[in-house]
Amino acid sequence: MRRITIFAGLATLLLSHPPAAAQQRSGGTTVQPGEPCPAGMTEVRPNNCQAPRLPPPSIVDYRPRSTLVTAEHRVPRAKFPAIDFHGHPAGLAGTREGLTRLGGSLDGIGVRMMVVADNVSGDRLREMVAAIRGTPAMRDRVRVLAGIDFSGVGPGWAARAVRQLEADVAAGAVGVGEIPKSLGLSIRKADGTRLRIDDPELDPVWDACARLHIPVFIHTADPQEFFREIDNTNERWLELALFPNRRYPRDQFPSFEQLTTERDNLFRRHRRTTFVAAHMGWHANDLPRLARMLDAMPNVYTEVGAVLYDIGRQPRAARDFFIRYQDRILFGKDSFQPEEYPYYWRVFETQDDYFDYYRPYHAFWKLYGIDLPDEVLKKIYYQNALKLLPGLPQTGWPK
Ligand SMILES: [Zn+2]
Repeated sequence: MRRITIFAGLATLLLSHPPAAAQQRSGGTTVQPGEPCPAGMTEVRPNNCQAPRLPPPSIVDYRPRSTLVTAEHRVPRAKFPAIDFHGHPAGLAGTREGLTRLGGSLDGIGVRMMVVADNVSGDRLREMVAAIRGTPAMRDRVRVLAGIDFSGVGPGWAARAVRQLEADVAAGAVGVGEIPKSLGLSIRKADGTRLRIDDPELDPVWDACARLHIPVFIHTADPQEFFREIDNTNERWLELALFPNRRYPRDQFPSFEQLTTERDNLFRRHRRTTFVAAHMGWHANDLPRLARMLDAMPNVYTEVGAVLYDIGRQPRAARDFFIRYQDRILFGKDSFQPEEYPYYWRVFETQDDYFDYYRPYHAFWKLYGIDLPDEVLKKIYYQNALKLLPGLPQTGWPK
């Protein structure tokens, strides 16, 4: 221990006054402009790389504590009653007891209503709707989207799927979703080929959604880094190393570009159908691209679930984006962990600087508040969802 201290002291001394000869002795290496440092070294002066004098900790263990002293505004409850459009309440919506517990959790975080996006249909959907209608305190606080069963797409499939959708809507479904990412990534047609997101055999279903005035909530692909090589430049290295099944190697899966192109074809081909692209279409790291999509496709909306790390790392650009597209963005959370919602409120409602995200393995950076105006918060929290889903209880919301 003592030896390490002396050694570290010596290193500091060398770092603050590095004579050329000392740099050579301590392993400094010159690189050409634009050339990366060799492995295990970092750039300490222009084109000069050096290795740490101490064994570097693993990125799993390196948790620097911020010394920044700045204003902190915790936001346990949303400023306006919110609708979680991307609800996966983990079984709570199916029974009275579960719904009552769900209500307690939602009260604590300021969420008035949840739209369950669990891809349910037929008996399961009818049971869920019956449980909601049979729980007076929750009757106006939960609604359900209908799922589409994409197995066996081939002759006769579309007519069956449309009949089932009509039955689900008659049973109380207020929209379609969440269309899972497996559409495009892995689902096969009856003939064994990959079912493309823009496959024309699906067209009658999207047309039926327009006729029934229900939006389609669709999750396509995943973060673009999941489709890339897992190397030292991958922003999601730790996540992919923790959860290797989140990777989509090129030789087994279509590319991110292929999937998002198919999705955009679908959106363009069905102008009368309203689509809500989940997770900001996985373009929250490329807001100009998402802006082009929303500009070109007036039938497309988007939802913010599980991409807070990208919104909160670009507070100025994100604020501009949310203000410009305030009529096209819906609040949704995805995974139901009540203690995580306050991070969303803090990003949307405050000007706080440099605070932690809730999943350190998602992001190696801090978040910043984007301080949205009240009129924009209201639209994102509930007004846009009420407009898109006539089947939601429409009374009792703040003006
Ligand atoms: Zn989801």
